[in-house]
Amino acid sequence: MKRVVILGSTGSIGRSAIEIIDQTGDDFEVSGLVAGKNIDELEKQLVMYPRSKFAVGYDDALNRLLARDGTLGKRAFGSGSSGIENLLRETQPDLVINALVGISGLLPTFTAFDLGCSVAIANKETLVTAGELITPQRAEHLIPVDSEHFSISRCLDGYRDEATEIVLTASGGPFYRRKYHELADVSVEDVLDHPTWKMGKKVSVDSAHLLNKGLEVIEAHWLFRFPYRSIKVLIHPQSIIHSIVRLRDGSFMAHLGPADMRLPIMSALYHPDIKEFPWRSLDFDELGTLELHPLDEARYPAFRAALAAAETGGTAPAVLNAADEVAVGAFLEGKIGFLTIVDWIEEALSAHRARKVLGVEDVLEADRWARDLLMRRHSEIGHT
Ligand code: NDP
Repeated sequence: MKRVVILGSTGSIGRSAIEIIDQTGDDFEVSGLVAGKNIDELEKQLVMYPRSKFAVGYDDALNRLLARDGTLGKRAFGSGSSGIENLLRETQPDLVINALVGISGLLPTFTAFDLGCSVAIANKETLVTAGELITPQRAEHLIPVDSEHFSISRCLDGYRDEATEIVLTASGGPFYRRKYHELADVSVEDVLDHPTWKMGKKVSVDSAHLLNKGLEVIEAHWLFRFPYRSIKVLIHPQSIIHSIVRLRDGSFMAHLGPADMRLPIMSALYHPDIKEFPWRSLDFDELGTLELHPLDEARYPAFRAALAAAETGGTAPAVLNAADEVAVGAFLEGKIGFLTIVDWIEEALSAHRARKVLGVEDVLEADRWARDLLMRRHSEIGHT
């Protein structure tokens, strides 16, 4: 039985992981859960897994939970990144599912490295901000959960030495068929209405700008060690082909599957074993037309900003990520328009003088710097 800790258990990926674990009977023991603010959902999960310990992202959320049910105190390991670290050190799991969103996922990944645990990594922000610290030895502990990266790892299996180029596909998001200048007044609901994937809010907003695809290019670079010039993106509105790999002999391998995150999550849970997928996959007769189009980079400034930050390297991707988190938060709260997200990202990147990343502290410092900059310059952010 594999002992698993789920970081971000109340989110989209975390809940899917729980659904899979429930379906698979005795293959896994949930030894730890981590949530942010959704204590109603966490409380239910703690009832489902009475042996599980837990930590919570925020002090006030932990206090509210313990005020409801004091008996949970025996199972609580604190709040914030120190709470998550205590939980991981206490439980020493075989596998950590890192489904936290944003920079909150960074330190737990490094704690898991210290402990020698495998990490099913959905939290792409770890790789984006601290990719330079992901040595090949550390990368061996990472199992990709992002659908395109799971798909690439499948294609590369046995073919790594023959592969010369990788392609990530992008659905194009909810606004693929609209002009950029038409997006100034789109609502939060429009942005969250992704045509093919149901995801958490932050990654949905990032997908609508195609910033997410830029983050995924950086993620692929650090996971698979391909140079940026050998990582391409193609628009594929159907979200059935998740990646393509070019081989030295001139042929290509494409990996297809349903747009269902349970597939990569289940694969990561059982890694390196492979189990039968118990849910509906695709039938050949429903494949229909599979379109692949070049990406018009001029149409997606957020994507370009991500690639520019990647090329700059050092602390630039951490600034990109922090500015995006602040701007997406402000957008979701109705404080700024959709296109202002890109303005703020570009503003932070152009004000930043990138430095080398020698340790996690350099990443966190760049993250704080970008947040402070935007807070000082944009009073509409306010305090949340
Ligand atoms: P969600 O927003 O749905 O979930 C995020 C989880 O993180 C929630 O459990 C949330 O808790 C928790 N959380 C947020 N902040 C903190 C904090 N400071 N401390 C502790 N917990 C915190 O996100 P997703 O599941 O969509 O995405 C998670 C990660 O996976 C992201 O990096 C995303 O890019 C990546 N990913 C997601 C995909 C998807 O289909 N959803 C696909 C591919 C990658 P709470 O809700 O209780 O506040």
